[in-house]
Amino acid sequence: MRDKVTCSDCGSIFECDLSIAGGDRACPECGSLSKLISLSFEDKVTIGLDTKITGKRVGEKRPFIEEKVGDDFNRDREKYIYREQIIDRENNYYKKLLKDKETGEILRHDEGLLTDHQGFGNAKVSPSKL
Ligand SMILES: [Zn+2]
Repeated sequence: MRDKVTCSDCGSIFECDLSIAGGDRACPECGSLSKLISLSFEDKVTIGLDTKITGKRVGEKRPFIEEKVGDDFNRDREKYIYREQIIDRENNYYKKLLKDKETGEILRHDEGLLTDHQGFGNAKVSPSKL
């Protein structure tokens, strides 16, 4: 079985068979044998990818529902946090949830009427407000 590991010296990600001692365990980039080994790291390398779902009707330009679920880089905390955002224009519903995945701490939780949130309920949005 080949595992994904990251080199703690140069940070490159490569695969090697951790069940066999020695062998191809050296980093192909810098030759270092010290590496951060974690199977769960495989999940972490996919962070930053968003799932975005939009619901649109034929003939309509603007989606009536937008849902974004994924990881978002938080500059204040310098790490990826879980983000969930739902904009449901049909039901005038808005939700934004930011959660620290490590601690489970809720960083932000907005939920309510979409029309209360300017910039989302309005068709004319200046990019500077986003
Ligand atoms: Zn390396």
